[in-house]
Amino acid sequence: MVIVMQEGATDEQIQHVIDRIVASGFDVHRSTGATHTVLGAVGVHRDFDHRDFELLEGVREVIRITQPFKLASRAFKPQGTIVDLGRGVSVGGHEIAVAAGPCSVESADQIQAVAEAVSKSGARILRAGAFKPRTSPYAFQGEKGLKLMRDAADKYQLFVVSEVMDPSQIQMMGGYVDIFQVGARNMQNYFLLRALGEVQKPVLLKRGMSATIEELLLSAEYILSGGNYNVVLCERGIRTFETYLRNTLDIAAIPVIKKLSHLPVIADPSHGTGRRDKVAPMARAAVAAGADGLLIEVHNDPDRALSDGAQSLTPGEFSQLMSELRIIAPAVNRHLA
Ligand code: PEP
Ligand code: MN
Repeated sequence: MVIVMQEGATDEQIQHVIDRIVASGFDVHRSTGATHTVLGAVGVHRDFDHRDFELLEGVREVIRITQPFKLASRAFKPQGTIVDLGRGVSVGGHEIAVAAGPCSVESADQIQAVAEAVSKSGARILRAGAFKPRTSPYAFQGEKGLKLMRDAADKYQLFVVSEVMDPSQIQMMGGYVDIFQVGARNMQNYFLLRALGEVQKPVLLKRGMSATIEELLLSAEYILSGGNYNVVLCERGIRTFETYLRNTLDIAAIPVIKKLSHLPVIADPSHGTGRRDKVAPMARAAVAAGADGLLIEVHNDPDRALSDGAQSLTPGEFSQLMSELRIIAPAVNRHLA
């Protein structure tokens, strides 16, 4: 249930409603908008009559959310969530946020070269994996990669997103990253999601390769229900009967999620296609479809990349794509740095 307070409802009125929600056995999540305060009531509760809440002073409207995800639903925050990264950069606002970088951190020279290139082209966020859900447990993993990434990002005023695989890594990784990425393979790792609900750093939650949109939103709900509202969703392609490309990038999921949820949605055309020559067309389509950002693999020497070289753009190709996106973005009322 979502309770929309009237414009100008007083603090006492809001507190009274909160008290009543708690007394009915719910947890309360508050969203303070520019004009209205919205109170989300979630949890297991006794029988109640939602009309009782409609009669409380200062209440404008009570909306019963029939979908299984509540805090992730658009009704909880009709104006949309803007995840603020600082220094004027955000995800979900007017500007399309682009995170770019290699699949994995390989060396100081590699990550520096890529950071320099992508920042020059207008990316705001450096992406790379230091811990990866790899087939081999011995392949270049660890904190050292995070440090190299942080240094490179700081040099070019970029934010850092990198994948966290286990709750035990959260504290250490928090010292290096600005956004925790949850990979497709971990979308339903509920211990990890719960642990990320307890921090305030933004979380980039990738859609599982066989996950429905509703399952993705329920995974987001785990994080939100812990009190971390800084969640960005990522469409990264799903498994279908079509095998020509690595995955089927579900572009339609973007407007569907934007309607169902207030959370920002970005697209990953790199993992979504698995082929460098298909990344730009899908990136253009994602922005045209309303994506709030993109996650794109870029490598300074893709043919020698240690992972995902085939889907990594060269710095030149990335720069060209960004120029194209600068033409598309205004057509959908957006802006690109
Ligand atoms: C990645 O972003 O490098 C990655 C491993 O992606 P996914 O979890 O979507 O496969
Ligand atoms: Mn990759």
